[in-house]
Amino acid sequence: MSPITSVVIDEGAEGKIFKFTQEVHASETKLAGQVEKLRTESVLIPMIGKRRVRTYTLCVSSQVGCAMGCTFCETAQMGLIRSLSVEEIVQQWYAATHLLKHAEIPEPVITPQGLEGPVRNIVFMGMGEPMDNLDNVLGAIDVLRDHRGPSIPISKITISTVGRVDGIAKLADRVRQDGWHRLNLAISLNAADDTIRSGIMPVNRKWNLADLQQALIDFPVYGGGKLCIEYVLIPGVNDTDDDARKIAEFLAPINNDYRVKKNASTPRTLLNLIPYNPRRVSPWPAPTEEKVEHFLAKLIELGVYAKRRRTKGRDLMGACGQLGSEHIRQRKLVDVTVSA
Ligand code: SF4
Repeated sequence: MSPITSVVIDEGAEGKIFKFTQEVHASETKLAGQVEKLRTESVLIPMIGKRRVRTYTLCVSSQVGCAMGCTFCETAQMGLIRSLSVEEIVQQWYAATHLLKHAEIPEPVITPQGLEGPVRNIVFMGMGEPMDNLDNVLGAIDVLRDHRGPSIPISKITISTVGRVDGIAKLADRVRQDGWHRLNLAISLNAADDTIRSGIMPVNRKWNLADLQQALIDFPVYGGGKLCIEYVLIPGVNDTDDDARKIAEFLAPINNDYRVKKNASTPRTLLNLIPYNPRRVSPWPAPTEEKVEHFLAKLIELGVYAKRRRTKGRDLMGACGQLGSEHIRQRKLVDVTVSA
């Protein structure tokens, strides 16, 4: 396993937040010859649950850098350097477990189900677009859920995507397989208007909202699970009442279709409202408390099942889409990598 090369610890409301890096090789990348090593970045976010037990969510990277070019994201400025291997993804979990052990966080315990440690959730929300590296992401999940190893239940693992429709379709095939039904999918929506979304998320120029909507209607959701819709609220970009109305219109067919098919009484989507977390050089400020609360209330009034996500890790620049530290801009879509 690559050693941990740096750790930043911050005191959050629910415990210590850890942002750590590990080195991986730079050979055969555009930086080969300039640097010997690249750095992966991961974040451990504490959460105190209903029983007052603190567990950690580990936010892992699937790539160094990212090709997607979202304008609100720190990582986007690096461009894609390279995708991570299965081992390089999994070693982030090993490093996290080691880190918590040495930070005097309770040690993992052996249970009849396997090893249970304070890392209870894994989210692919660090550097990179997981759908660009889907083979290795799925390979890593196979290791992470192995009862002889990390033993993270599949229902505690989330893949987050900007909405690569081809990748969502391939992931849907996997989720239909036994043992994969409860894998969670999160979509970064961030705008329900094609002009706005294409302006802040270049992926929308290739797969627009209609394409994304159909992919979500077709995506299988089992056992009352939810599709997570992530919405970063950015002042002056996507925060009007009209934006809220367009979100409701975008989600309605996804939820209605589910009701017809499954006779379900609960919506199929859960919208997470995330106040924008300004990156180091940012064209936008964070939204005001009043604006966030108003937008959330508007969504709920329009019938959207929505909650607010707390901005844990803001001081670390380690909230979703805020990892990364280089200054290289190169944006291009890369092929989805997945085996049949
Ligand atoms: S938000 Fe995610 S997909 Fe978009 S550039 Fe950042 S890391 Fe890539």
